Amino acid sequence: MNPSEQEQYGRQLLQIKRARSRLMVCFLTFPLYVVGVTQLLNNGQDITWLMLVYMAIYAVFGIGMSSRRCPRCNQHFFVKHYFLNPFRRNCAHCGLSFVANPGEPQ
Ligand SMILES: [Zn+2]
Repeated sequence: MNPSEQEQYGRQLLQIKRARSRLMVCFLTFPLYVVGVTQLLNNGQDITWLMLVYMAIYAVFGIGMSSRRCPRCNQHFFVKHYFLNPFRRNCAHCGLSFVANPGEPQ
């Protein structure tokens, strides 16, 4: 990506990156969720609300992320055929990246 594209699409790419980060936080907090559910079950409490809240958060962030569109080609950024790939850092269609240097780990 050349510097003018970075400038032109910077704000939208940042939003795309943030949408991805939110879903990643959900993935990473899954162990905490499992611990929480286990604790509640051990105490004989109902976990229905916790499961519903957790699924709702996933749904909201997942939909928010999959609906992101690439500022360059206007296609869905993370979705190529039917599947959302949360690990990608570049557009599924034109390859526009939200990382300044896609080769560098971030
Ligand atoms: Zn694109």
